[in-house]
Amino acid sequence: MNGQLPDCLTCGLCCRKPVGPPAAYPEDLERWAHEGMAEIGNRLDGCRDAVCPFLVVGPGFRCAIYPTRPLVCRHFAAGGSACLELRLANSRR
Ligand code: SF4
Ligand code: SF4
Repeated sequence: MNGQLPDCLTCGLCCRKPVGPPAAYPEDLERWAHEGMAEIGNRLDGCRDAVCPFLVVGPGFRCAIYPTRPLVCRHFAAGGSACLELRLANSRR
């Protein structure tokens, strides 16, 4: 990656692999309730797919709830070790 940050809009890996939708913390549930978006927590809780139900695909990859995305998503840093490991693992397949 030549020292540059990876481009999430052309990657989307952490939203579609490998462990399914993100977990919602109590802070997320409180925020969504406050914002009138409690349905977000319900959809995540009920989702059994590998891909996050809020990932919008094509062209590229986009988060449909980006401004209020779960804390776990906010803390997953582009270019951080988990991001780079995920990208490396998928480049080998
Ligand atoms: S954080 Fe990393 S793995 Fe996630 S979409 Fe961005 S570049 Fe891809
Ligand atoms: S909520 Fe948004 S950022 Fe988080 S995994 Fe789903 S699509 Fe990705």
